[in-house]
Amino acid sequence: MIAEFKEKKAQETTSLISTTIDTSNGPKFINGLRLKLVQLKIKFTLLKVILKCYYNPIVWIQSLRYLIKLRRRFLGNIKVHKMVYINGKYHIGLYTPGWNSSLYEKFIASNLNDFKPIKLVEVNRFNNIFFAITKKCALQCEHCFEWDNLNKKETLSDDQLMEVVKRIQDKGVSQIHLSGGEPLIRMDAILKILNHADKSTNFWVVTSGFKLNNTNAKRLKEAGLKGAVISLDHFIPEKHNTFRNFKDAFYWVEEAVKNANNNNLITALSLCTTKDFISEENLMSYMELAKKLKVSFVQFLEPKAVGHYVNKDVLLNPQQIGVLENFFIKMNFTNKFGNYPLITYHGYYQRRQGCLSAGKKGIYIDTDGDMNPCPFCHKKNGNVLDSNFNSNLNILQSAGCSSYN
Ligand code: SF4
Repeated sequence: MIAEFKEKKAQETTSLISTTIDTSNGPKFINGLRLKLVQLKIKFTLLKVILKCYYNPIVWIQSLRYLIKLRRRFLGNIKVHKMVYINGKYHIGLYTPGWNSSLYEKFIASNLNDFKPIKLVEVNRFNNIFFAITKKCALQCEHCFEWDNLNKKETLSDDQLMEVVKRIQDKGVSQIHLSGGEPLIRMDAILKILNHADKSTNFWVVTSGFKLNNTNAKRLKEAGLKGAVISLDHFIPEKHNTFRNFKDAFYWVEEAVKNANNNNLITALSLCTTKDFISEENLMSYMELAKKLKVSFVQFLEPKAVGHYVNKDVLLNPQQIGVLENFFIKMNFTNKFGNYPLITYHGYYQRRQGCLSAGKKGIYIDTDGDMNPCPFCHKKNGNVLDSNFNSNLNILQSAGCSSYN
C-alpha cells in the first residue's frame, strides 16, 4: 500500500515537470513471447560463434558452459525480463553491442577468447574504452572526476586524438565512449574522429547535453555516432542545475535527449547516485522521467572520492547500496516494469564479477592520452601515443583494479 502510494506520488511528481520532449522517436521494450523468441535466436547465434571459433566438439560444450557461467557471475539465476529494440537491434545492456550484428558476434568471440584463445576468427582486445577528448567544460559539477584538469590548455591536437583512436582500434574495440570535459565543445574533432575511424567500433558521446542541438545531433548521426549517454542527476530541474552549477543544465538534458532521439541516436541517462538522492521514491520519480523522455537505458554511477569529490565522505554505505540493488532488480527483472528503460548498474556487477576495466576489457584514456584503470581510478600508466604503449598496457593490466578485485 505504502509502495503503491510512493509510486503514484513519483508519477505525479514527474507529471508536474513540464518537458518539451517530442516523444515520437525512441526505443521499444520487448517482453514475453517476443523476448523468448529473440532469446532463442540469440542462443543459435552463440552456437554459431562457438562453431566458428573452435574445431573440437568437447571445447564446444565447455565454451557453452563458460558463457552460461559468465552470465551467472553477473546476474546469478535471475532471468532477463526485457530487452530494448532500437534501430533494428536488440540490446540487453548499455555496454553490450546489439544483437543481431557482426559486432555482437565478435563480442561473444572476444569473451570466449578469455576462456580459450581463438585463432580462427578475429577478436577484440577491448570491450569499451573511455576517451576524454577535451579539458573544456561550461559546467562545474559537484562530482566531476576531471575537476583538476578542467578548462586547462588542451594537450592533444585533433590529429593526435585520431591517432589515439587508431591505436586502440588496431587492438580491436567494441565501443569507444568519447567524454571530457564536455566532448561536444570539440564538435569538429568528434566529427573528424568519426569520419576517419574504422566502422567496426560503436562510438558514443558521454555528455552533459550541452550543445546537443538538432544540427549537431544530425551531423553526429550522419558521421556514424551510435548513441549519447547524457548526465542527469535529479528529476527536479532546479536540483539538477544546482548539482551541475549551471542554470541551463536541465534544459540541455531535455534538448539533448529529444534531438538525439529524433536523429535515431540511442539515448541513455546517467545518474550519480549520491547519498542524499537515494530513496525508493526518488529513484522511481527518476525512472518515470526517463520513461517519459524515451531513453533506452539509465546508468547508475556510485559517487567516488576523486576529482571534485576528493577527501569527501561520498561513498555509499551498505544500506544505501541495498536500496540501489533492490531497485535495480525490481526494475529490470520483474514484469511490472517491462516498459521502463533498462538500468545498467556497474557497482552491482563489479561486486559480483570484479572489475572488467583496468586493462582487462577496458581502460580510461585521459585528456593527455595517458592510460588509467577507469574514469574513477586515476593512476596514469603511460601514454597511448608512446612507443612502449603495449608494455605499459600490460603493466596496467597486471596491477589491476584496487577496488573490485
Ligand atoms: S562532470 Fe562532466 S559536465 Fe560536469 S564539470 Fe565535469 S566534465 Fe563538465
